[in-house]
Amino acid sequence: MSNIQTDLFTKAKTLVPGGVHSPVRSFKGLHTTPRFFKSAEGAYITDVEDKKYVDFCMSFGPMILGHRNPKVEKALQEGLTRGWSYGACEPYSLELVEYLLSRLPHVEQLRFVNSGTEAVMTALRLARGVTGRNKIIKFNGCYHGHVDSMLIKAGSGLAGEAEASSAGVPEGVAHDTLILELGDVAGLKQCFIDHKDQIAAIIIEPLPANNGLMVQPVEFLKFLREICTDNKALLIFDEVISGFRVAFGGMAEVTGIKPDIVTLGKIIGGGLPVGAIGASRFIMEHLAPIGKVYQAGTLSANPLAMVGGLATLKEMTPANYTKIEEQTKKITNLLASWMKTYNNGQFAMFQVTTYSSLFWIVPKENVTKISEIPANLTENFNKLFEVLLDRGIYLAPNAYEVGFVSLAHDDSVVADLAKRLDYKL
Ligand SMILES: *Cc1c(COP(=O)(O)O)cnc(C)c1O
Repeated sequence: MSNIQTDLFTKAKTLVPGGVHSPVRSFKGLHTTPRFFKSAEGAYITDVEDKKYVDFCMSFGPMILGHRNPKVEKALQEGLTRGWSYGACEPYSLELVEYLLSRLPHVEQLRFVNSGTEAVMTALRLARGVTGRNKIIKFNGCYHGHVDSMLIKAGSGLAGEAEASSAGVPEGVAHDTLILELGDVAGLKQCFIDHKDQIAAIIIEPLPANNGLMVQPVEFLKFLREICTDNKALLIFDEVISGFRVAFGGMAEVTGIKPDIVTLGKIIGGGLPVGAIGASRFIMEHLAPIGKVYQAGTLSANPLAMVGGLATLKEMTPANYTKIEEQTKKITNLLASWMKTYNNGQFAMFQVTTYSSLFWIVPKENVTKISEIPANLTENFNKLFEVLLDRGIYLAPNAYEVGFVSLAHDDSVVADLAKRLDYKL
């Protein structure tokens, strides 16, 4: 790496805090500075020094078709000619909503926002508005964006008791979030007894994929559905990552479990900033202007983002879900075999957990909660990350982030990957 990258990072650090607009991009803990990228195409991303990497970050998920998919690009170019924000009613969002509702049986109405965080923020307010209750149960190891009430970690006191995990989050806000370990059925039962008629909702990533990939037993998700129904609390599936990724209808489709509210993001905008909240018409009509739960957005349902999202989602046919899973198997098998043999087994402790087109490189199988994650994960991952980066293979720069495969990761990319790894297929 020449000075170009380090100079850019030095400059960035004077202009924006830590040199980045989102903390994970900073390469914290790594022995190298962040790569600055100038373009992307298909399964590849190119840095400012013209080095090309196989991209397994894919903007943390949205680019499920690959970068610069020609159909999406065409839709965006046509969209540009119509202007790119009106702050008024337009038909483009309706086309996207209709398309989504026809394929998401658990949702009757949708509203668009600009990010996953915003979707979660609205979902929580809506759940509180509908139930007239304040408390929300969240699970340790699930990420729901950077809304205050979700920046919470387990407290030292009673089960469920929580404290802020970020400075700037008031105690009062943390107080209304209860935190439990994934899979803790007894703890949940106790929580509903201790806080009888106070719990508005349980929020969960039905496929936790922001702290590694911690696949949950379906029975646990079913239990959440039951305990919410029994206690007149709402079940929120945060499907910002899993929605349109593991199946078009996300984990709700995969498991057949119907959440009361679903939050969507990432793929829904095809790489443009979009999030959404969906629920029954009864719940959704609690939102302003009909209902008393306020929610708004200057750029919401941005017409350009709407056509980008629709063009992306239209490509997600059942055949393409099968294809992307097949490619993910080929890629992760290759990575796993290479790790067993590379440099006298330097990375032999790792295996690869996959779910659909998501993967996680970790030295343990079947991790379902935080306490099962090996303590030395980061140390080993960072070495692996640097070796792969050097060979032109870009993972998300943190051990707890998952890898994303796109439809552009075809067989030619698999062959190229093998070449970059010096591994005979
Ligand atoms: C990414 C993510 C969010 C936050 O979305 P942003 O668009 O980054 O605000 C929330 N929940 C889950 C499950 C996510 O994966």
